[in-house]
Amino acid sequence: MIVLMLGAPGVGKGTQADLLQKEKKIPHLSTGAILRKAIELQTPTGLLAAEFVNNGKLVPDSVVTSLVKESLQSDQFANGCILDGYPRNSSQASELDEILTSLKKQIDTVINIYVPEETIVQRMLERGRKDDTESVIRHRLEIYKSETAPLLDYYGSQGKVVTIDGNNNIEEVFRSILLLLEK
Ligand code: AMP
Repeated sequence: MIVLMLGAPGVGKGTQADLLQKEKKIPHLSTGAILRKAIELQTPTGLLAAEFVNNGKLVPDSVVTSLVKESLQSDQFANGCILDGYPRNSSQASELDEILTSLKKQIDTVINIYVPEETIVQRMLERGRKDDTESVIRHRLEIYKSETAPLLDYYGSQGKVVTIDGNNNIEEVFRSILLLLEK
């Protein structure tokens, strides 16, 4: 099963993907987490990505697509994947389609978690990650609206999107996700 987590930064995609990973025994693949680790370890990818991540900009498509391609081809993800943070724009969505076609796989469900913008900003400021300053958060939200949110129409036209109210506690949101996945 391939599940995509969509939704603005700070809506809880990572938290819910982790819970889903435990419940369904499908591994979680977060491009943001891979990039943060690479930055911490100062790998070549990390050195390239740092400036983009720290300023809330998208890392070049070729860099993230290679990371995703390599992961999806590995045994670890042979039985499925919960993709979180990728694709982030239409060209990444096309590249993901190509990767999945070559692996004879397809996206089963796109989970769109929705939280009002001001709640997101508050949550992210409380989270306090290095790229969670107010101006960087606002920039990431703008990029989400212009580049990532249109993917909801792309996957929506394929009948794959389920929308979840993320303005609730973690357990409630997770319960809604499980209910919708069972349908
Ligand atoms: P996230 O943890 O998903 O919020 O991602 C944190 C940061 O990593 C983003 O603000 C981007 O700088 C970078 N990033 C993560 N995923 C992608 C992606 N698919 N394309 C480009 N940049 C990404």
